[in-house]
Amino acid sequence: MMEYARSILDLIGNTPLVRISRVTRGIGPLERQPLVLAKLEMLSPGGSVKDRIGLPMIEAAERDGLLRPGGTIIEPTSGNTGHGLAIAAAIKGYRCVFVMADKQSAEKQAILRAYGAEVVLCPANVPPESPESYYSVAARLARDIPGAYKPDQYWNVENTLAHEATTGPEIWRQTAGRITHLVASVGTGGTITGAARYLRAQKPDLVVVGADPEGSILSGDVARPYLTEGVGEDFIPGTFDPELVDRWVRVSDRDAFAMARRITREEGILSGESCGTAMLATLQVARELTESGQGPGAVIVVILPDGGRNYLSKLYNDEWMRANGLLASAGSVVRVREVLEDRHHGEQIPDLVLARTTEKVGAAIRRLEDYGISQMPVSEAADGSELAGIVGSISEKGLLERAYRDPAVVERTVGEVMDPPLAVV
Ligand code: PMP
Repeated sequence: MMEYARSILDLIGNTPLVRISRVTRGIGPLERQPLVLAKLEMLSPGGSVKDRIGLPMIEAAERDGLLRPGGTIIEPTSGNTGHGLAIAAAIKGYRCVFVMADKQSAEKQAILRAYGAEVVLCPANVPPESPESYYSVAARLARDIPGAYKPDQYWNVENTLAHEATTGPEIWRQTAGRITHLVASVGTGGTITGAARYLRAQKPDLVVVGADPEGSILSGDVARPYLTEGVGEDFIPGTFDPELVDRWVRVSDRDAFAMARRITREEGILSGESCGTAMLATLQVARELTESGQGPGAVIVVILPDGGRNYLSKLYNDEWMRANGLLASAGSVVRVREVLEDRHHGEQIPDLVLARTTEKVGAAIRRLEDYGISQMPVSEAADGSELAGIVGSISEKGLLERAYRDPAVVERTVGEVMDPPLAVV
């Protein structure tokens, strides 16, 4: 018998579970820990958990006569649902227009375009009811484009049903019914609602844990902007049943991003941001179980929704991380050296960059430019870099202002034009 799938659609879902054993190290002695298993949704053909809902939403619309041959699929998406829909649309020959908030990574937009979809970008930091929001723009396009159909993952029952029909049963089978805790980060809530509904029906005392970014109202926070993509909301989607969630763990951007990187580097699983959100909630539950002696026998399944390839320009870009205040771990400080090293992309720079009283102003301006700095102390010492000889300072702004008034100033010595010394701490 030859072994092959009829189309890529048949390869969606059935993602593996893998044991997590390295990022869990700090939570207590191994023999007291619960078993932590991650469901690797990034291994689905479109790279995320949202592959599971694309085809069912399209087929339901076909059945109901809402989507006809030659039709256009329009959807507001953080990217991954778009990938799932685009795969199904490619096979079935539909046009796709996806409306995204501009905070979503360039990679996710580029992948949508790669599948042949059109992408419309909208501002992220406006309320959902604003005419500029990606929800409103998608609604308007769906009204205006003939033959358009908006699956509306936030209200489409097929979203939740897909997880009830696939994600939940897979986890039940893969854990041989031994799952005790389900942890998922929540966007539309389709994953957690559908999977929990199925699993609860098998095991009424299953503990369901929602992981939510700070700034999302799902866990009761006040809505405010955050950087973690794909999870958290500023409204309660119709696809989410809050009753199924036993407890919430709220996670900061900084912790979620740091944990996503750790999963990648320590477990070898290239993870997206919401994996970090879900894993932090998992570790909190695992630690509590370990400390209370309930670890042995407990089986925690955490959904890892998408992979790191979606976020190479952000989560896996040190410069972007640093610029957004995400690189240093919580509670630690960023050192001046780190800031300087970052500016110089790791090049070696001297401990002290200074000007001499005797050198030409032009040379000092060039040094400021070379090191990308805006001010320097001035030393009267002929050599050495000790602070003792500091007698003044110069600044790029001050020097350029003088040079503008009197171009000949670049030929004068630094000692003639310098300002008082910088304060010493
Ligand atoms: N993580 C990422 C990266 C996502 O794109 C989504 C879907 N928006 C989720 C998690 C949450 O999945 P759900 O919509 O099923 O709650």
